[in-house]
Amino acid sequence: MKKPSYGRIVVKIGSNVLSRPDGTLDVTRMSSLVDQIAALYHAGKEVIVVSSGAVASGRGELGQKDSKLDTVSSRQLFAAVGQAKLINRYYDLFRDWGITCGQVLTTKESLSTREHYLNQKNCMQVMLRSGVIPVVNENDSISLTGLMFTDNDELSGIIAAMMDASALVILTNVDGVYDGDPSKPGCKLIREVAPADGDLSGHIAPNRSQFGRGGMITKSRTARRVACEGIEVFIANGKREGIIAAVLNGNTDVPCTRFLAADRRLSGVKKWIASSDGFSKGAVHINDGAYEALRGPAATSLLPVGVTRVEGGFDKDEIVDIVAPDGKTIGVGRISMNSTDAAKNAGCKGAGTLIHYDYMFLEPSLNS
Ligand code: GLU
Repeated sequence: MKKPSYGRIVVKIGSNVLSRPDGTLDVTRMSSLVDQIAALYHAGKEVIVVSSGAVASGRGELGQKDSKLDTVSSRQLFAAVGQAKLINRYYDLFRDWGITCGQVLTTKESLSTREHYLNQKNCMQVMLRSGVIPVVNENDSISLTGLMFTDNDELSGIIAAMMDASALVILTNVDGVYDGDPSKPGCKLIREVAPADGDLSGHIAPNRSQFGRGGMITKSRTARRVACEGIEVFIANGKREGIIAAVLNGNTDVPCTRFLAADRRLSGVKKWIASSDGFSKGAVHINDGAYEALRGPAATSLLPVGVTRVEGGFDKDEIVDIVAPDGKTIGVGRISMNSTDAAKNAGCKGAGTLIHYDYMFLEPSLNS
């Protein structure tokens, strides 16, 4: 097999990789990961780092929660201190390799409009063009619970798609996705996932990260979605020496789960739409005919005639969920009418297009 060559790579480093068992920041591990990223950089690759660990390193610095503080306040406090500590370390470690890194803090809301999204993209493009490695994290000290990214796995997927990366490497403290609970005998590592393979969440033990928010279910969901957008994804163990180069070079001696990229490239607008679920202002419920048409191979827009019910109050051009007859949300799209007009036209023929194909993102499993 021809060795793949990735030009722009997003490396996501999880809190569990950067934390020692007592919760303090593992600077030795961090230094080894920076060495690996520096080698990629000096080989001419463009690298974006998405790093967790702010809350964990703040907690390590300040000790356990002050009993007078509620959970949200202590998280804000840990993140404020921990992020400063984290980026300081990255800055010094990269500087030892003659590389400058810069901090990009974001919130889910900063990606909610197309303008904000493009602004964020521009910032990272400018950094890359200037030879600066972006080190991205959620701005945890100001992210509100209901408006947070599910975790940094979701954020890394959005960044990889936004920046047209060719590969996303998600580093955690296990070797990849297993077909059951890895602590049980007989459980095997899934080495490769093809775009047409179904959702893996049924096989995965629902364990959460010890020091971060993520878990293997969200990792594999993000990985599938990103791979379906045409980007190769690897989930691997960040505690193994030389892991980043090993997975990117296709070294089969090294365990990891590789999600093969689908042979398609989404437009910039579709990528933004794909990243905007969670921002939906309402929903359109569709009938069986529309469901079958959307599942089909042809590029199909959603027409009012295929809609049975409209939920929520939204304006024209806002993002809404698309809900199948069985009640499952199957995608999101930018709607061309406000909720009053959409409800008035639901079920009617010849009332124009409700969600144009170019402004619609459907769950990858829908067409598989
Ligand atoms: N952004 C969080 C941090 O840096 C981690 C979120 C996650 O665990 O995915 O601490």
